Amino acid sequence: MAADLEERVSSQEHIEHVPGDVFDPGSVPIFPATRRAFLLGSMAFLAGCASTGSTNGLPRMIWSEPDVQPSPVPSTSTIPSNLEVISRSSWARGMPIPGNMNRMTPVQRITIHHDGMNAFTTTSQSSAGARLERIRRGHLSRGPQRWGDIGYHYAIDPSGRAWECRPLTWQGAHVKNQNPGNLGILVMGNYDEQSLTQVQKRAVLQFVSGRMRAYGVPASRLHTHQELAPTACPGRSLQAFMVSARSNGQFG
Ligand SMILES: [Zn+2]
Repeated sequence: MAADLEERVSSQEHIEHVPGDVFDPGSVPIFPATRRAFLLGSMAFLAGCASTGSTNGLPRMIWSEPDVQPSPVPSTSTIPSNLEVISRSSWARGMPIPGNMNRMTPVQRITIHHDGMNAFTTTSQSSAGARLERIRRGHLSRGPQRWGDIGYHYAIDPSGRAWECRPLTWQGAHVKNQNPGNLGILVMGNYDEQSLTQVQKRAVLQFVSGRMRAYGVPASRLHTHQELAPTACPGRSLQAFMVSARSNGQFG
């Protein structure tokens, strides 16, 4: 049951891209009223590649089981990677909303995104955290039904830092109709307007490979957003890097 709802939620969460991102609005359905409301809102900057639309008629709570409670954020010590992961609690100014999310099912694939906002090249850790918080708030603000959290599970910033985002307890919201078992990784920035730095390339290779090994995900199930859905995400330069590195066997 939960999976069914999550699928509907995720379908609706990824309908519309907003001003400031790079996606072709003609490639995805638009809900004019929702778009107008969003344009008039104060959060038009809050893009993030995962986009939104109407969430008409969704029940507020989807589980009645008493065991569905906010779960502890996984410890970084459980992540088998040499790359340290900055905890969600260090940047997020609010807890996930369990009633708006579904439980994560076993990871079977991984999808790479950019945020599609303005180019982002700063090495400041606090700026990266603030950007994640902007994305989280943007995701939470969308539609009459709030999202449960930022849509991605992890993010990598321009300095190559890895950030924990939506706890792995919860299914992500980052690819229309294809979120179950799909680990969402955001590479912060706009890769139609910037290129990956060398340190960032190494971080993407290391971090994504670590996740692939941890969950037994082969390169054939490592995707970019545009390989699964009609979108420009993750931008031309990141897409080119992903295709090249994957074909060269650099992941895994
Ligand atoms: Zn995306």
